[in-house]
Amino acid sequence: MTIIFWFKRDLRVYDNRALYAASKLGEVLPIFIIDTDILDKFEAYDLRLGFIITALQKLSEEIPLKVYVGKTLEIFDYLIEKYKPKAIVTAEAFTWSGEERLKKVETLAINKKVRFVKIFDNFLADFRKIKNFWSFSSFYKKWKEKLDLEIIGKFNVKFLNPKEEPTWQEATKKLKYEINKFNAYDAEKFLKYDFSKYRKLRKFLNGSTRLSPYIRFGILSIRHIYNLGKISEKFVKELAWREYWYALKNLYPYMNNLELREDRRNIKWDNLCLDAFYNGETGYPIIDAAIRQLKSEKWIHNRLRMLLASFFTKDLGGDWRLGEKFFSKHLIDYDEVVNVGNWQWVASVGTDYAIRIFNPVKQSKELDPKCEYIKTYIPELKDVPCIYLHDPITYRIPGYFPPIVNYKETRQKVKTLFGLSYKEKT
Ligand SMILES: Cc1cc2nc3c(=O)[nH]c(=O)nc-3n(C[C@H](O)[C@H](O)[C@H](O)COP(=O)(O)OP(=O)(O)OC[C@H]3O[C@@H](n4cnc5c(N)ncnc54)[C@H](O)[C@@H]3O)c2cc1C
Repeated sequence: MTIIFWFKRDLRVYDNRALYAASKLGEVLPIFIIDTDILDKFEAYDLRLGFIITALQKLSEEIPLKVYVGKTLEIFDYLIEKYKPKAIVTAEAFTWSGEERLKKVETLAINKKVRFVKIFDNFLADFRKIKNFWSFSSFYKKWKEKLDLEIIGKFNVKFLNPKEEPTWQEATKKLKYEINKFNAYDAEKFLKYDFSKYRKLRKFLNGSTRLSPYIRFGILSIRHIYNLGKISEKFVKELAWREYWYALKNLYPYMNNLELREDRRNIKWDNLCLDAFYNGETGYPIIDAAIRQLKSEKWIHNRLRMLLASFFTKDLGGDWRLGEKFFSKHLIDYDEVVNVGNWQWVASVGTDYAIRIFNPVKQSKELDPKCEYIKTYIPELKDVPCIYLHDPITYRIPGYFPPIVNYKETRQKVKTLFGLSYKEKT
């Protein structure tokens, strides 16, 4: 009997719990759908699509993967009619759009009397069982008690390989995309990462693991990654942050649009000079360089994400929902839940009471003391003394955009935006 296995954010065979469950039910037809509705929404003819296609290519070297380009429901309709499967098996989805898509397919399957099986995978703990927490630290304690680290590893699957169904090459012929610099399946790279030095290395703009797109698309199993990195408690904590946002989303499913903190729901965001921000023309070289890196490479370091989100919400008074949307268009590791959670956190409307303001001048000096990063992404500034580049308010940078705001006025601005809920951090 045919079992359709639907790959989504778990583009791997090794330690794939949902695929393992499918293998126990019958002969497996493995499929992936490049959904044209999603492509249209995210302007995805870019590196992100290239990354996915590279991953599909690598996966196809291991199994007879069938790849479809089109609307998810139409493709399932076709497959169900043609193969009369005994079941459709897939990993459970937890993002807003993922849940919606899954629900539609599940309904279709039920209407057509096909069994629909969803398997929990791609998280280290079942975050749905973690309740009664608010701060990350209270979550983290409970999360550690719920860790489920059992690795299935390699297992046998009997795959079907109907020749008339499209391979990744056939399916993607009509798509324009760039194969990008991130080499999917480059597990070697991570084996070489020195996790014992993670706490120190992660502070450098090129020193963190860069695992995020591999985690986002499930190219490496999260348990496998945990095993590589468990020598560093700091690293494990970072993995827990991802699950913290999902646990919060599970309890407060409205958080994609509404502030978690009730007392900070009526902020009148100024939305000042947002176009200059989107174009990387703020006049603050560290901010502009980060925007250029984000747009060209689709990835930036966590410290830069925090700096950008702070500048956007605090210095420009930009609504965090707009900032979140901007990141969603560019990040190769874009994850709805993680992005929303982090934007709320930096905007000080999430679970954290403190109102943090990142000083862009101080951050520039700290993150890029010799201005190497700035000069890499804004080469036209290569001859400007570093001291100017850090502090464009004190020093006018010749021939460069004047600063769109004075960061020294931010504290006052934030007081006005946050009103009564603003308290100086001592
Ligand atoms: C405003 C903002 C938006 C963000 N949007 C995303 C997003 O859409 N997708 C995404 O994967 N990460 C997002 N992050 C989290 C974090 O910046 C990235 O996961 C990290 O920079 C990726 O680089 P890395 O793999 O080298 O990280 P490492 O420092 O090596 O961390 C290892 C892994 O831990 C997880 N992790 C680390 N920090 C966080 C965090 N703050 N929240 C959740 N998980 C974390 C990631 O899976 C990461 O790959 C965002 C952070 C901020 C401040």
